[in-house]
Amino acid sequence: MTNTFRIIPVTSAAQPDAATDYRALDVERDYSDTLLDGLQRPLRDLRISVTDRCNLRCSYCMPREIYDESHTFLPRAELLTFEEIERLARLFVRLGMRKIRLTGGEPLLRHGIEQLIERLAPLQTADGQPLEIALTTNGVLLARKALALKNAGLRRLNVSLDGLSDATFHRISDTNIAVATVLEGIEAARSAGFEQIKVNMVVKRGVNEHEIVPMAEYFRHTGIVLRFIEFMDVGRTNGWRMDDVVPAQEILARIAERFPMEQLDPNYSGEVAERWRYADGGGEIGVIASVTQAFCHECSRARLSTDGKLYNCLFASDGLRLRDPLRQGATDNVLANLIAERWQQRNDRYSQLRHLATVRDATKVEMSYIGG
Ligand code: SAM
Repeated sequence: MTNTFRIIPVTSAAQPDAATDYRALDVERDYSDTLLDGLQRPLRDLRISVTDRCNLRCSYCMPREIYDESHTFLPRAELLTFEEIERLARLFVRLGMRKIRLTGGEPLLRHGIEQLIERLAPLQTADGQPLEIALTTNGVLLARKALALKNAGLRRLNVSLDGLSDATFHRISDTNIAVATVLEGIEAARSAGFEQIKVNMVVKRGVNEHEIVPMAEYFRHTGIVLRFIEFMDVGRTNGWRMDDVVPAQEILARIAERFPMEQLDPNYSGEVAERWRYADGGGEIGVIASVTQAFCHECSRARLSTDGKLYNCLFASDGLRLRDPLRQGATDNVLANLIAERWQQRNDRYSQLRHLATVRDATKVEMSYIGG
């Protein structure tokens, strides 16, 4: 394939455009050694936002004042197609990626999502292991979709749920959807044969902290791992304040008051959730202290936005446009080298630096677009 592009340096500001010439990147490089960023972190995980739309309007993520009827979501032509996602996924695998998480927005709103899973499920890591494919959903459409997702080859499912009472759920999600709808979705996933289901609860001070213990109680003895997540300052629209964060240690203390707990070893090095189990054998929970104990030093995660921009940090403000070269006929070598160079230049560690006023960037992208 001949390319008629110009070469541009891949700096944080540089973006491919219609006139970009990638010929110098059109060479096969050997990526069998672990690809490391500027802080010696490997590229292992890729989160893909498959849609920027959502059927909830959680105040901390997509507040209705901003995401109302007048908000313009990405038009269909701007979204990466399933073919494009699969092609990029294969290239990320070549660079050492081992796990993909499909997210959004609400991934179950993406028409035919199970067909994307079917395409990704057979992929293998560079050392011949099956690629881990996971999906994060708010569960609203899960009862309808669970079996199709399982049949398509999905193994891991994370369901977000911030409380058990309709009053709390309505307040946070800014909809009238009943908690029972999400719980039915989780049940449907279990019946469909999903073994690895996690439920994620974001805890916000004064909003749903009273749901911590009821949630723990509900999911004990179910085999489902409940994980509590500190409220983060993603994007620009959620009005984040440190006072709104309930620290993971406080969450644990509240549960331990009711149910004695014991700490567990991590499943693997770099696991973001701290693992705990109920001393009486009631199962496992996790806490993700993304604010109070930032884990940037171990972050091996890249993110692909709905329209195909590569972000190296959840708190980034600028991403590398991959869709343009993809649609302009760039070869696999060009795309792989673009991604690799971008990763090698990575040195962000936003969460560890967030206390410095200089890193509070007014242009941070929103989670629904970059992929939560
Ligand atoms: N719609 C899907 C869902 O609800 O799981 C996937 C996308 S959502 C953005 C992914 C996760 O990010 C959800 O668990 C959500 O609660 C979490 N999230 C969104 N904004 C957050 C914030 N500011 N702090 C912590 N977690 C957040």
